[in-house]
Amino acid sequence: MQKKKIIFLTGTRADFGKIKPLIDVTMRANIFEVHIFATGMHLSKKYGYTMNEIKKCGFENIYPFDNDVESGSLSSVLANTINGFGDYVQALQPNLIIVHGDRVEALAGALVGSLNNIIVAHVEGGEVSGTIDEHIRHAISKMSHIHFVANAEAQKRLVQMGESDEVIHVIGSPDLDIMTSSDLPSMEEAKQKYSIPFGRYAILLYHPVTSELDKLQVHADDLVSEVFDSGLNYIVVYPNSDPGSDCILKSYQEHLEVNDRFRVIPSVRFEHFLTLIKHAKFIIGNSSVGIREAPFYGVPSINIGTRQHRRLKPGTAKSIVDVPDDRSEIARAIRDAAKIEKRYEKNQYFGDGNSAKRFYSIITRDDFWNTNAQKFFVDLYE
Ligand code: UDP
Repeated sequence: MQKKKIIFLTGTRADFGKIKPLIDVTMRANIFEVHIFATGMHLSKKYGYTMNEIKKCGFENIYPFDNDVESGSLSSVLANTINGFGDYVQALQPNLIIVHGDRVEALAGALVGSLNNIIVAHVEGGEVSGTIDEHIRHAISKMSHIHFVANAEAQKRLVQMGESDEVIHVIGSPDLDIMTSSDLPSMEEAKQKYSIPFGRYAILLYHPVTSELDKLQVHADDLVSEVFDSGLNYIVVYPNSDPGSDCILKSYQEHLEVNDRFRVIPSVRFEHFLTLIKHAKFIIGNSSVGIREAPFYGVPSINIGTRQHRRLKPGTAKSIVDVPDDRSEIARAIRDAAKIEKRYEKNQYFGDGNSAKRFYSIITRDDFWNTNAQKFFVDLYE
């Protein structure tokens, strides 16, 4: 029998760390023909050319596609990815497309699949947040036929969106599989690879909020001033490529890159980044790292502004302090976080580290491959 063809689409470091365990388990099984369509930030030198990280994983059949992510226009990135991925899918004729999360590249993948009657599986739909990511995530879910979600709350939201419970599978967030691995690099290895000159540090990771671009430069400058004035050491990671990221980069270049207390890095390999998180004093910014990875390791996080709005049920993790984009509140949160010596209790809201195993047992079932390309809205009310 011909092997089923599966395409995984990845557009950023953010989704790659999450689908990597799923690619790994699917490729190693050797019963599927597995392909990877790599686009977006992976092909951008400015954002660390993370295409190399994909290659280093030893995966085969990687197709690079430059969607001109540096243009900064989400609509043209979406259009370019639809074109490029559309041609690729026409040539390959896959049985399944797997996309992750809430980026425009994943939306392009889901649209191309749906429009061509190819089954699309969406990993980690049903979550809530702020910014345009929130809209994109739900749109991807509606264009997808199968859902692999992190927890029962995400499952319920998809049911609320008219998706059939039968095609929603709770597997947990797959990045937790890597987070629980005993093979993560040591702190010494991570420090050496990224030339980190200090032992005690916090991590700064701040992204543009695409719906608040008018205030972004002020917010970025305020945050940079407070971080600078705190007197602590920081590992600073570049934001993603969303519109507005240049405002943040400008502030980093002018104030942080020139000072020895700051090690500014475009992107860190996921496994090394996890080691850096584990050893950090705290995480500050508005990345999902402060909501997902840091609480899983019990590391304190300062979550700024609206970008992660309601991502985690309020009060679920004691390690997270939410603050508005306000200088004095940020300053106070940094002072408080700097005093914390302990690690918090491990938070398992997004899963337990066994996602790939669950995923594999689902995609090897015969009925999985009989999923109908025609979806029907499931009403909750008569
Ligand atoms: N990440 C990474 N290397 C980095 C920065 C982030 O591997 O240099 C991972 C991080 O652990 C998380 C994911 O990428 O799982 C997304 O983080 P990011 O802040 O880029 O995006 P967000 O999810 O907030 O949109």
